[in-house]
Amino acid sequence: MRKKIIAGNWKMNKTIPEAIALVKELKALAGGETAVDVVVVPPFTALYPVAQELKGTSIGVGAQNLFWKASGAYTSQIAPGFLVDAGAQYVLIGHSETRGRFGVAEPDFDDDVLRLFGESDSTVNRKAKAALAAGLIPIVCIGETLAERKAGTTDAVVSGQTERALAGIPAADAAKIIFAYEPVWAIGTGEVCGADEADRVCGVVRASVAKLFGAGTAEAVRIQYGGSMKPDNAKELLSKPNIDGGLIGGASLKAKDFVAIIAAGR
Ligand code: PEP
Repeated sequence: MRKKIIAGNWKMNKTIPEAIALVKELKALAGGETAVDVVVVPPFTALYPVAQELKGTSIGVGAQNLFWKASGAYTSQIAPGFLVDAGAQYVLIGHSETRGRFGVAEPDFDDDVLRLFGESDSTVNRKAKAALAAGLIPIVCIGETLAERKAGTTDAVVSGQTERALAGIPAADAAKIIFAYEPVWAIGTGEVCGADEADRVCGVVRASVAKLFGAGTAEAVRIQYGGSMKPDNAKELLSKPNIDGGLIGGASLKAKDFVAIIAAGR
């Protein structure tokens, strides 16, 4: 039995005082949760104070990105060791809001603010390896765009992203990785993927892991669904056999909504 994992991606929200206020509420409502793994993923600036505030609780802390180098002349980047130092145990990698848009010389900054930051499958792979080497658990995000879904390439896109993320990673490490299947068209849009379809695509991810590492590793790997998961649709999504948790954006910013989703995962 895989333990479900509910992670709240706060994105670029919450100042330090706001972050502390939110985790104080979460601590009171879910600080002793053991049936489900719970993780909050604040912006970098709030990582350390949030980790301090959550000491002694069962709630874990994750970062939203990392760089694969340990130190050096990489202005603006954050090393894996810095995240550990700040108190993180998890790290998001390859969120669709950081993945790149190859072939587009000048992205449209008004209509296409997502996917501006140049992440590729190979940077995702390097980051996953660096995270594992530092003792962090990667939450690797994968998912198709609306255009890819309409073109009927969802399964090929998702399995390709999964396989390339795992390139050169030993089986024992691969089993530690958490995948988050996040159809890009469902993120922050209120447009949720049907539970059966989300479960089916999570099954495609699991089959890709099985192809590389065998059934044992595939059965061990946890696969979350993410994309407009809310208290009112969480139960149905989280009851599906291939969905082992949720990566929650908007609904993780309110303690009561996030806690209702945690409860739906029990
Ligand atoms: C996310 O940012 O990973 C996400 C799933 O966002 P939302 O829940 O707001 O769609």
